[in-house]
Amino acid sequence: MRIGSGFDVHALGPGDFVMLGGIRVAHSRGVVAHSDGDVVLHALCDALLGAAGLGDIGQHFGDTDPRWRGADSSVFVTQVLALLRDRRLAVANVDVTVLAQAPKIATHRDAMRRRIAQLLEVAAERVNIKATTTEGLGFLGRAEGIAAQAVVLLTEP
Ligand code: MG
Repeated sequence: MRIGSGFDVHALGPGDFVMLGGIRVAHSRGVVAHSDGDVVLHALCDALLGAAGLGDIGQHFGDTDPRWRGADSSVFVTQVLALLRDRRLAVANVDVTVLAQAPKIATHRDAMRRRIAQLLEVAAERVNIKATTTEGLGFLGRAEGIAAQAVVLLTEP
């Protein structure tokens, strides 16, 4: 078995939605990012790559590469999954924490879970989504940004 962790932050800026776990969540702000700025999927990719010993998301999908401008981050997950498959690594489970003062994710949690499971081609019960605020503290508490953390366990043959 191999464990990996990932963490990602994006600044909030003008806009009316954020992408979280592949789900479009209406919000009073948007995310400043080269891709779609989905912190959940970016943290997930880093956790998967970390567990596989394959570096980080920036090495695979550079944030100055025009190919990834405005990219749907689910493409990153799909490509990372293919790298894992090449190495015969399988996803045992994923645990994600969203760190944000807003938006509330409670009503989107199940959709995020299903979408991530679909992208990873695993059953939904292998994916867990948690959320926390920072009690108003720091850049997350001031809603200057949004962050996510992911931990994954991979099994190997
Ligand atoms: Mg990112």
